[in-house]
Amino acid sequence: MGPSRFDTVHHAEPDSFRQMLSEFAADKSPKKISLAGGMFWDEEGKIAKMDVVEKATKQLGPHIWERHGYLPTQGHASFIRQAQNLVFSEQLVQSCLSGIGPRLTSFQTVGGTGANHLGTLFLARNLRPRRVWIPHQTWEGHSRLWQRASDFGSRGQEALELRFYPYHDATNNCLDFQGMIGVLEQESEPDDILLLHACAHNPTGIDPSREQWEAIANFCSARNIFPFFDMAYQGFASGSFDDDAWAIRHFVHGGHELCVAQTFSKSMFLYGERLGALHLVTGSTDAAARAQSQLSRLQRDGISSPPAFGANVASEIMSNPELRGEWQREVGMIHKRVMTIRKALVEELTRLGTPGEWDYIEKQVGMFTCTNLTLEQIDLLKTRYHIYVRHSGRLSIAALANRAAVTYVATALDTVVRETSKSHRCRVTIPGLGPRDISLKTSAADALPSQS
Ligand code: PMP
Repeated sequence: MGPSRFDTVHHAEPDSFRQMLSEFAADKSPKKISLAGGMFWDEEGKIAKMDVVEKATKQLGPHIWERHGYLPTQGHASFIRQAQNLVFSEQLVQSCLSGIGPRLTSFQTVGGTGANHLGTLFLARNLRPRRVWIPHQTWEGHSRLWQRASDFGSRGQEALELRFYPYHDATNNCLDFQGMIGVLEQESEPDDILLLHACAHNPTGIDPSREQWEAIANFCSARNIFPFFDMAYQGFASGSFDDDAWAIRHFVHGGHELCVAQTFSKSMFLYGERLGALHLVTGSTDAAARAQSQLSRLQRDGISSPPAFGANVASEIMSNPELRGEWQREVGMIHKRVMTIRKALVEELTRLGTPGEWDYIEKQVGMFTCTNLTLEQIDLLKTRYHIYVRHSGRLSIAALANRAAVTYVATALDTVVRETSKSHRCRVTIPGLGPRDISLKTSAADALPSQS
């Protein structure tokens, strides 16, 4: 073939996560284990299924094929109503006096990524904020999606600026609350957007306490900041859907306008079905109607209408009190299982006497734990033990399916930490983020705020 009109197209930057997945798939070792992804695995190493999802799918039986026509642009009506109740509670949505129902507009989306995508596009175009504040660290999609949205919704010549606020105190393995509020107080301005993880923060597993949430809500009111909640793990932080939604409901009670990006990928193990929702709470019913018309336009142009299968199943579960109860119990059990794995990993590392502090793994919540592993250690884990860890040092606790996997990973961690413990660490100051301890053989994620 001769030259192509696409010869001048540049290669896009490779996606390191996708590359790691391909490497993992090509790895022939029977010992291989991926701690990189965000899915649950059963004891036999297969993708885990939820009993209640199987039951609801069976219950729908042949009806599922009667319901696979195109959904409306906004999505499956019953699913949307139930998804709203899950986030905000039925009482908050429907109460006659203080209910947000008429001021709430919601769209079914293509998973949590689609919810973030729709939300960022809508806000960039319609609020035209000067800046968005993103936690360091965070789910890597946030920077990409906000960057993309900023290309669509510029304020004339002024591009939307992505700024990072301190979140993870890597030295003490806790929330850097003072750093967070300090930077926001000094550098944010009215009408900025503040991105917050509603619960089970990815990747750190560290959430603000209720008092800290109250302080964040007060700060947003005082500075007139727009909060954008991403809620990918409802139920995984505490085992209770309601407790995990506390922060969002607190903001709503405080009269905030806000957005919530929600996904059922994790809370129903519906990963590939791509089921999520975007909710927008506005200050008036008129604003909700206007916003709804704009969101409708974006949704119609982007995907026309969302996928039906997952919405049918989720709606069946959430609208049937018996199944809804079973689902809550199952998520509660998953939460317990994750806490048990965390405990087992800490016990094993303590038994081995692995250098360093590991107790924090037990204090964190949700699927992930954020370690200070260096690039050198991560590389050794892969080449010698066929254990795949993301460059950010994030481990998926949910991937440790059984006791043997915990022992294998702990032993590997013990060896690589001992071997490399002479690697020097030093303190650097990252502009806007303050001091950080990093290894001289550092990972890109230690140095760059936008990695997850
Ligand atoms: N937000 C956060 C915080 C996440 O962790 C994830 C998934 N890892 C998503 C959004 C994307 O969700 P989904 O897989 O449903 O697109």
